[in-house]
Amino acid sequence: MVTGGASGIGLAIVRRLVAEGASVLIADVDEAALAQARAGLDAAVEAAAVDVRRETEVARAVETTVAKFGRLDLGFNCAGLGAFGEITDLTEKDWDTVIDICLKGVFLSVKHQARAMLNNGTGGAIVNIASLNSHVPMYGGVAYTSAKAGVEMLSRNAALELAPKKIRVNTVSPGLTDTPLTSGFRDIDGVEAAFMARIPMERWGTPEDMAAAALFLASKDAGYITGSNLIVDGGWETSAYPDLRPFRDTLLEGP
Ligand code: NAD
Repeated sequence: MVTGGASGIGLAIVRRLVAEGASVLIADVDEAALAQARAGLDAAVEAAAVDVRRETEVARAVETTVAKFGRLDLGFNCAGLGAFGEITDLTEKDWDTVIDICLKGVFLSVKHQARAMLNNGTGGAIVNIASLNSHVPMYGGVAYTSAKAGVEMLSRNAALELAPKKIRVNTVSPGLTDTPLTSGFRDIDGVEAAFMARIPMERWGTPEDMAAAALFLASKDAGYITGSNLIVDGGWETSAYPDLRPFRDTLLEGP
């Protein structure tokens, strides 16, 4: 089961899973993107319209996965978005939206995925997508960075509780990755260069870079790894976050 699987990193995970022979349920709130993603993939893919903020919808998606495919072995929780705003101005609504999707959505997904995995007898593996912002603050990003730091701790706490039950829980923290979420950065003069100045490998990550890391953590090769946060950022954490203050006004306007 892949939440946020209709686009970007989630979709790359779906494609890689299908290529490896898995049956996949894509859970996403964007029904048009879901239909498009589903159309390009084979018959072993099911799509479910799910808002990860709603427990009944998440629980139903897990039930559908088990009903369609017999069991749930792997959960990848990718649904997420951000809202730009300085802490003195950020609205309660924007704070709630980001925290609810990025953090509460991961809680609800892990809760119901793990419950289904308990029935397997053989356990399972869950990979949550956080961000480099789980470790590094971002100007104008207080809701997002707080949610992503929360995802890392939530995953470690879940790993602690679920390890005896043979369920591993890990986090992938992507750096700057080329997806619809970040495409707006290319439209603001100077932002891409500001990021590149901080990324020692001098390139964007691809959704496939992130899918490779996520599938590794879900695989038997990572059988003794749980509670880890794998940073996949081209070395970016070594050089800190770019100074986004010069782009404040444009970023506040939004895409
Ligand atoms: P994306 O916008 O391409 O994909 C995000 C998907 O999540 C979309 O399909 C969207 O419809 C879905 N989604 C949003 N709200 C939802 C909800 N309430 N319920 C269900 N689905 C919902 O973005 P992406 O870059 O692939 O992001 C995937 C994850 O990676 C996110 O958690 C994001 O925070 C994280 N991330 C991305 C980057 C990056 O540079 N792109 C960096 C670090 C972390």
